[in-house]
Amino acid sequence: MAHLLLRGEPLGPASGEIAQIAAVLFDKDGTLSHSEPMLLNLARARLAACLALADLEDAAPDRHQELHDLLSRAYGFRSGGIHPDGIHPGGITAVAARDHNLIATATVLTQVGLSWPDAHAIAEHAFERTDALHGSGSELPPQPTQGLAALLERLHAAGLRCAVISNDDQNGIRSFLDSHGLSQRFEALWSAEHHPRKPAPGAVHGLCNQLGVQPMHCALIGDADSDLRMARAAGVPVVIGYRSGWRHPPQLEQGSTVLHHWDELTASTT
Ligand SMILES: [Mg+2]
Repeated sequence: MAHLLLRGEPLGPASGEIAQIAAVLFDKDGTLSHSEPMLLNLARARLAACLALADLEDAAPDRHQELHDLLSRAYGFRSGGIHPDGIHPGGITAVAARDHNLIATATVLTQVGLSWPDAHAIAEHAFERTDALHGSGSELPPQPTQGLAALLERLHAAGLRCAVISNDDQNGIRSFLDSHGLSQRFEALWSAEHHPRKPAPGAVHGLCNQLGVQPMHCALIGDADSDLRMARAAGVPVVIGYRSGWRHPPQLEQGSTVLHHWDELTASTT
């Protein structure tokens, strides 16, 4: 067991209480990884594919423009324009799994008049066309957030075990860790293919079972309110919001414990 310290202050479930920690559970996108360039590229490609497949530009230019605007908002483009400069850290592209993004896309397509079977088929086709842009094989593979390798060394030196809890698939999680030489630092993972998936508190319990660690001896670090709420509901005593994985830092709910650089987090053996 170890204590985690944020800017030198030991962390616990409440002021003055210090938690005994055995494992740290990390979200991936926007926490372990700078995924924004890849996700922005992916969402822009999905938007372009949907517009091409819906084929409204000549017959119904107003609906074509409406589809462009609705999908831009649904995907969380920061500028909402033709050349968005970022992704909303709490939006569906950033937070949700592929199948939820696909259903959201099909729902938007129905809003410009397509039937559900046509909308769903276009969304499936658009996603299949653009899937290669996601993951480590993409043109813009996600990079580790600054200072991550040193943090993992500190946690390892204090005897802390690490795991990933993400709504990416197992392949995406493994390829990110492998491509940056981080695999040996993570003992377990919980992906969109596990049940239940994030943000169900049962996802934390499932991962804790894999590790053989009680939730009360875990810390969880994520970049979305859904991560932090899930952790609290699962009985995790140390819940930390990470804010430096996005161009526009996520606004986490008031009162959240937040960190801005991994250098702020240290561990001491108890
Ligand atoms: Mg995230």
